[in-house]
Amino acid sequence: MGWVVQTNDFRSSEVQGSPRTCTKNELALMSLKRLLFFWLLALVSVVVPVMHFVLAPAFFLVGIFVFFLPFKYTHVMVGGSYLCPKCSAMNELKNFYFSNGSRLNCNSCQAELKISNE
Ligand SMILES: [Zn+2]
Repeated sequence: MGWVVQTNDFRSSEVQGSPRTCTKNELALMSLKRLLFFWLLALVSVVVPVMHFVLAPAFFLVGIFVFFLPFKYTHVMVGGSYLCPKCSAMNELKNFYFSNGSRLNCNSCQAELKISNE
């Protein structure tokens, strides 16, 4: 049982390092931090002349959107790496939140990869 990354044409490579499952509390905390960050931006953009009509509501809504994003993650990789199956470049994974089937991109060739548990 290990995690692998796979390209769209089914080339795959093993992920080095062992992810752990993340707790709901952890995800809630991350969500809250993101929400506060965007709401702070919304608050700050209120003083921007004219543009605040667009910026303030936009940041407000983006905040709500990003708040719900982390709840789909099930695992976190604190420190790990993988070799891109396409270009063989080494990619680091640091505090990487994901779940089975999450998408990620290679840092050097931008290939779309899927991380899954096999
Ligand atoms: Zn690559």
